[in-house]
Amino acid sequence: MPDEAAARLGVLGGTFDPPHLGHLAAALEVRAKLGLDEVLMVVANDPWQKSPLRPVTPAELRLAMVEAAVAGCRGLTASSIEIDRGGESLTADTLARLRADRPGVELFLVVGSDAAEGLDGWKRCEEVRALATTVVVDRGGREGGRPPGDWPAVVVEAPRLEISSRDLRARFAEGRPVAALVPPGVIEVVSAHGLYRSSP
Ligand code: ATP
Ligand code: MG
Repeated sequence: MPDEAAARLGVLGGTFDPPHLGHLAAALEVRAKLGLDEVLMVVANDPWQKSPLRPVTPAELRLAMVEAAVAGCRGLTASSIEIDRGGESLTADTLARLRADRPGVELFLVVGSDAAEGLDGWKRCEEVRALATTVVVDRGGREGGRPPGDWPAVVVEAPRLEISSRDLRARFAEGRPVAALVPPGVIEVVSAHGLYRSSP
C-alpha cells in the first residue's frame, strides 16, 4: 500500500465544460516530470469566475465527463471534492481540505498559463500560494502567461495542444469534428445528455 501521508499530489482544477485532451496531456506531463503519485482533476461546483458569464453545464454531468476522460489514464483521478462541498468553488478551501484529510501530503497546484496570469485575482490567493507549489503549463497559442509579481512557480513544458472547452462547445453545437480533441467516453456523455446543442 502506498503511504498516503507521504503523497505528492497534483491538483488540476477546472470547469471541464467539457474536459479535453489538453487537460489530460498537461496533467500526465506534470505527473511524470514532477514524480507525482496522483493528479486530481477537481471539478468546480460553481465556477464563480465563469457562471455569471455563460450557462455552465450541471456539475454532476461535468464530473461524469471527467470520470470518462481519466478512465484510461493511470495516475489521474476525477475529484468531486468541490461538488460535495457545494456552493462557490474556492481553490483555497480545496487545498486546505486536502491538507487536513491527508496529513503530510505535498500539494502541487497545476494551472495553464492563462489561468496563471490571474492567480492574484483568486479569492484568498495568499492561502493558495502558501498551501501548494504552483506549477504552470504553457498553453498552445497563449504563451507568456506567468503568475503575477513574485508568486513562486515551477514551469513544466508539456505538449502544446491548442484545444479549449470554449472551442469544443462551438464544435459540438455546429457538428464540426471533435474526435481527435476529446476522449471517446466524453463524447458519449455529451451525446447521451444532448449537451452543447446550441452555440455558446
Ligand atoms: P474554457 O475555454 O471554457 O475556458 P478551458 O479549455 O480553458 O475552458 P478550463 O476548465 O477553463 O478549460 O481549464 C482548467 C485548467 O486547465 C486551467 O488551468 C487551464 O489553463 C488548463 N488548460 C485548459 N486547456 C489546456 C490546454 N490545452 N493545455 C494546457 N492547460 C490547459
Ligand atoms: Mg479556461
